Amino acid sequence: MLFPFSDFIFLCFFFYSGYSLLRDPHHNKGLAFTDKERAAHYLRGLLPPAVVSQELQVKKLMHIIRQYQVPLQKYMAMMDLQESNEKLFYKLLIDNVEEMLPIVYTPTVGEACQKYGSIFGRPQGLYISLKEKGCIHEVLRNWPEKNIEVIVVTDGERILGLGDLGCQGMGIPVGKLALYTALGGVRPSACLPVTIDVGTNNENLLNDEYYIGLRQRRATGQEYAELLHEFMSAVKQTYGEKVLIQFEDFANHNAFDLLAKYSATHLVFNDDIQGTASVVLAGLVAALKVVGGTLADHTFLFLGAGEAGTGIAELIALEISKQTNMPVEETRKKVWLVDSKGLIVSSRRESLQHFKKPWAHEHEPVKTLLDAVNDIKPTVLIGTSGVGKTFTKEVIEAMASFNEKPIILSLSNPTSQSECTAEEAYTWSQGRAIFASGSPFAPFEYEGKTFMPGQANNAYIFPGLGLGLIMSGAIRVHDDMLLAACE
Ligand code: NAD
Repeated sequence: MLFPFSDFIFLCFFFYSGYSLLRDPHHNKGLAFTDKERAAHYLRGLLPPAVVSQELQVKKLMHIIRQYQVPLQKYMAMMDLQESNEKLFYKLLIDNVEEMLPIVYTPTVGEACQKYGSIFGRPQGLYISLKEKGCIHEVLRNWPEKNIEVIVVTDGERILGLGDLGCQGMGIPVGKLALYTALGGVRPSACLPVTIDVGTNNENLLNDEYYIGLRQRRATGQEYAELLHEFMSAVKQTYGEKVLIQFEDFANHNAFDLLAKYSATHLVFNDDIQGTASVVLAGLVAALKVVGGTLADHTFLFLGAGEAGTGIAELIALEISKQTNMPVEETRKKVWLVDSKGLIVSSRRESLQHFKKPWAHEHEPVKTLLDAVNDIKPTVLIGTSGVGKTFTKEVIEAMASFNEKPIILSLSNPTSQSECTAEEAYTWSQGRAIFASGSPFAPFEYEGKTFMPGQANNAYIFPGLGLGLIMSGAIRVHDDMLLAACE
């Protein structure tokens, strides 16, 4: 039997009335309940007499939040709001997105994950640990919402550039899904944050009395694969073929394999590999309007050859191949990567992880980034190493010595791990760099001119890409969709 939407709203209020309605974050409106609503839903006497509009509530809360000096306090205030009045949380986030994005997302969410055990209040999202092995289907049914359209899942092993944060990685799926609603318009009730807990190798957490996860070292191999497989199967069985699963902040030794394995059977994408690639390629295409030339005219050098680095590299090669009709094996030669052992070259091929092998070009071994920059003479330098301060003065000056407008992207998160700051990029290039970073930097003034650093973060693509996938009823993600999203 189908009800009109207005009846549906009424039924929701009917089920949650009076005291429980005020404590239900999905339907609570706080002082914004009108007198009529207060009478109809048994709220009379449970609220002070004033009726306060949502706009005024946002104004009051922003005033309070702005008084907090510490970003983590702002984060906790936002989480409290999400757990008490979801409508107000989204109204505030949407109306103040530039100001609040660095709070609910990078960089503050990184600190929140590091301290998640200590600040843990009401649980958010679904925790699936090794204890749930064999009954994940039942665990999914414990979640109150049934019509799930998008799941963001992490196993917490590579949270931003902060390493293994185990179960405390939950802040990431929660934050990403808040953006699915605030930026993509997906219903909050259709979003499910999940953290898979297979243990952690982070000794500090294992010894932390407030740690909220399994107190054991990470399960690997077959035990890990079986838990993940049970989860993936249970999700499809519970929510159907069209539920979107976004992999987030898995370590690269699992991320590539999971993506390869499940992209043939599920609607999945890995945000760190594919979302990042799409948004960075979009940024490069935009930068070409200032710098000139086509993508094929440029030479790209990466510091960091993991998920983000090789994901972006491959999408650049695919786009050049599409534009020039050259085979992708050829266009990859425009792209070079440096990892922790130096430039990736053919003599290293045998010892390379599989996702690095396509980038092992013919070249003498080169140990340092500075030497690689001087040898390859890239026009574009991209940092995806997770290691801060690695774009040194010498590196930026070298880039600026043979490029009129060097493109410099410091993509590592959070801010502490950024390869260089906006100030460093502009100062060391004498104001000539085209700069963007993964976490936001404030505008910077150099010799009387104000520079606005760009933010190259997958937050600019995944909510829209995800919305497109959901609305189109897609059941698989293809590279062409990433290229279209980038355009
Ligand atoms: P990853 O672990 O898969 O890859 C890191 C790579 O950096 C590896 O190849 C490693 O060998 C290399 N590396 C480590 N130390 C190095 C050093 N000192 N010198 C040179 N290379 C070094 O991680 P990832 O998923 O690719 O993420 C890397 C960073 O990128 C993280 O900080 C992450 O937050 C950031 N990231 C940003 C975005 C964005 O939207 N801006 C998206 C994804 C990832």
